Amino acid sequence: MTNRTGKLIEGATGKWEVVIGLEVHAQVLSKAKLFSGAATAFGAAPNAQVSLVDAAMPGMLPVINEFCVEQAIRTGLGLNAKINLVSVFDRKNYFYPDLPAGYQISQYKQPIVGEGVVLVDMPNGETIEVGIERLHLEQDAGKSSHDMHPSLSFVDLNRSGIALMEIVSRPDLRSGEEAAAYLKKLRTILRYLGTCDGNMDEGSMRADVNVSVRKPGAEYGTRCEIKNVNSMRFVQIAAEYEARRQIDLIEGGGKVEQETRLFDSRTGETRTMRSKEEAHDYRYFPDPDLLPLEFEQALIDRIKASLPELPDARKQRYVSQFGLSPYDAGVLVSDAETAAYYEEVAKGRDPKIAANWVTGDLFAMLNRLNLSITQSPVSAANLGALIDLIADNTISGRIAKDVFQIMVETRDAPGAIVEARGLRQVTDTSAIEAAIDAVIAANPDKVAEVAAKPKMAGWFVGQVMQKTGGKANPAVVNQLLAKKLNLPG
Ligand code: ADP
Ligand code: MG
Repeated sequence: MTNRTGKLIEGATGKWEVVIGLEVHAQVLSKAKLFSGAATAFGAAPNAQVSLVDAAMPGMLPVINEFCVEQAIRTGLGLNAKINLVSVFDRKNYFYPDLPAGYQISQYKQPIVGEGVVLVDMPNGETIEVGIERLHLEQDAGKSSHDMHPSLSFVDLNRSGIALMEIVSRPDLRSGEEAAAYLKKLRTILRYLGTCDGNMDEGSMRADVNVSVRKPGAEYGTRCEIKNVNSMRFVQIAAEYEARRQIDLIEGGGKVEQETRLFDSRTGETRTMRSKEEAHDYRYFPDPDLLPLEFEQALIDRIKASLPELPDARKQRYVSQFGLSPYDAGVLVSDAETAAYYEEVAKGRDPKIAANWVTGDLFAMLNRLNLSITQSPVSAANLGALIDLIADNTISGRIAKDVFQIMVETRDAPGAIVEARGLRQVTDTSAIEAAIDAVIAANPDKVAEVAAKPKMAGWFVGQVMQKTGGKANPAVVNQLLAKKLNLPG
């Protein structure tokens, strides 16, 4: 348990602390379902991907999908968690129109993955440790639609039986912002591992947000659980709304009742859905159709050896090998595509300069055009070539900004742009000298001023740059100006 105190919230009776724990449902990236061979692709016609097992036809038997099990192990390892060599599938009994069996196959007392930890970097530079309580495998339910017909409801069982990982955190989060950042980090890890696509708008990842409040140092308060929140921003808004609601309730003389609540993304509010059910309401019992899941350590070792470099390790490498700041390194590793792009730009070049271009001009441009890095009009090879042109003095850093803009518009290579538009830097001293002489001749008053105030030289640099269309090599300009104006240094 974390005893860290987070940012406190002001109430009428003093300061309050928010306590949050997340239960995240992540759809396992797999072509087939957890206990059947039916397909899992998103967007298929209703009921086009339903086997007899998923439809719960009498007498059908579930068969475990080994790949989904390996995905869960992979995820557990990525969460620095203990993998349990024996785990058990249980039936969780409840009625839903889109749950034809009348129970969900899940794991209860013996999940496949035990305790782990996730590190989350906050914008203020703090790194928080979020405990993972467990990860278990379970089936998804189908989907009911109540708004397609005035008097009928429809059921689509495509989702029925798809493998989910439920990842349960400890109540270690202390603000809506931390909860959102944790979810983001979790998604980054799952995407690196290739165990969940993390597409929250397609429902591949959704979070139940548990919120309570307490006076600093007091015992945990009674929590409410907000169901199925489907974006990072909504997690933050829902948690903040719920904390404020509980504080106001308690300070008004009321008492928080443990319950399940719904989040309304249009109003940003939460409202009661049902009072909290207890585990015994579900009458869990081991599914008699399935044997306990048992594997040997060798399987886990083999999977461990095949894991890719994960974001924390990659970040460390960027700091130690490339000399990047922890913040820049964290930004660059936040998704695998960005990291791959960056590494291509940095290869054989100054890694810090490469990082500045990627996190600066490139990110700003992608943001403005609302594009992902894989859609970037500037390829990693072209950005690298632009950096080379600065390094070998073909263009100045200032002209490079203009060339970058043209690269965005035309998708052309920087070398071709510089040649076609005559943007090569002028290092030819006679051309620069001529420009300096013209500026000096036209401004005798400024020449008099600069003798008393050497700082004025900057004004001359600007004028010469303007005269040369920004193409004069700044170092040469400074050097020649100092000589011509008899400046010190
Ligand atoms: P249940 O099995 O009844 O859902 P758990 O103990 O498994 O309860 O907790 C579910 C989630 O609620 C976990 O993510 C946990 O971190 C979180 N949680 C537990 N107690 C609190 C609390 N007092 N305030 C906020 N979150 C909590
Ligand atoms: Mg729970």
